[in-house]
Amino acid sequence: MSQWLFKMPVTIHFGSGSLEKLYTYATGRTVLVTDTGLRQFDFLKEIEQKLNPVAVFSEVNPNPTVANVDSLAAVLREIKADAVIAVGGGSVMDCAKAACCLAQTTEPSIRSFHTGGMKFDIAGIPLITIPTTAGTGSEVTPFAVLDDTEKGVKGPIASDFFYPVAAVIDPTLTWSLPKSITAATGLDALSHAMEGYWSKNHQPLCDLMAQEAARLIFINLPKVYANPSDREAREAMSYAAVLAGMAFQLPKNAMVHACSFPLSNRYHMSHGAACAFTLEFALKLNAPAMNGRMEAFAAYCGFDSIDAMAQAIRTLKADGGLPCSLHAVGISKDEIDVLVKESFHPLMNNNPVEITAEHLYQMYTDLAK
Ligand code: ZN
Repeated sequence: MSQWLFKMPVTIHFGSGSLEKLYTYATGRTVLVTDTGLRQFDFLKEIEQKLNPVAVFSEVNPNPTVANVDSLAAVLREIKADAVIAVGGGSVMDCAKAACCLAQTTEPSIRSFHTGGMKFDIAGIPLITIPTTAGTGSEVTPFAVLDDTEKGVKGPIASDFFYPVAAVIDPTLTWSLPKSITAATGLDALSHAMEGYWSKNHQPLCDLMAQEAARLIFINLPKVYANPSDREAREAMSYAAVLAGMAFQLPKNAMVHACSFPLSNRYHMSHGAACAFTLEFALKLNAPAMNGRMEAFAAYCGFDSIDAMAQAIRTLKADGGLPCSLHAVGISKDEIDVLVKESFHPLMNNNPVEITAEHLYQMYTDLAK
């Protein structure tokens, strides 16, 4: 076995009703970060009431922007925040991670770090993450995906200082998620599990978590589609999402996430739908180069072949109402060249198969059928 490293500096509280743990971390001048849609829910009203934050920041776009991060960091500096509580999906958590670190510097904009080459060298304001979806894994990762709308660049930014102090994962917060978000976030988690597993930087502990995350998603996502109030299945999806987060946070993602960036930048697909879009194609492309590892993964998940697992992914997408063709996203065949060109994000280098423009051209052509 080759050398490997594992770390998980985030304290994790998991389980239905675990939301209460949040208050053990909320000391001093606390800022609540969330999105406007969530503020209508009773659980958020209760958090606001019990937390009594110095400020509530809810101007976070579905794809968080550089401007969102800069605005939040300005608020955190101005009120000298002692702690930040982020309640929401990946967008809210990503925005909070970046702003907590930016607020401790003298830089006015996260752009200096996102695309400007600067690196954080001090810890951010302590952050506690509370996911309201089961998918992103952002609550346990050192990454944030940010959209620089002025520069037209969307992509991840990573720093060890982005790890939250604690994640409080209460599956009851996902009970009211609409099907479209359940599907997109669930398939994002499946993408994290598979990408962490096939990444060139994969390692044995993350492999274990990846396989178990995927097994749980294949069993429980259809159950949640059929019955959104299935508490056990919702709980299993929340568990799978955090496992998948831990499965990719060190190995990092690969071609599926690389391809997701132009799909969400240009065609406004949600992150999860964009990852799901190419997932079974990447599976079929990568499996032959993995010396039987992917067959073992499929068998662990209860499939007798790679093709059977690929078909199950496609069914999860279709049943969840996610797009399965270029046509369904409104992309014409003429745009394939641009898609291919913009899919070569650095994450592509983690892929077990060296991806060429021809591979991608073939994939997008198949998706045009
Ligand atoms: Zn993702």
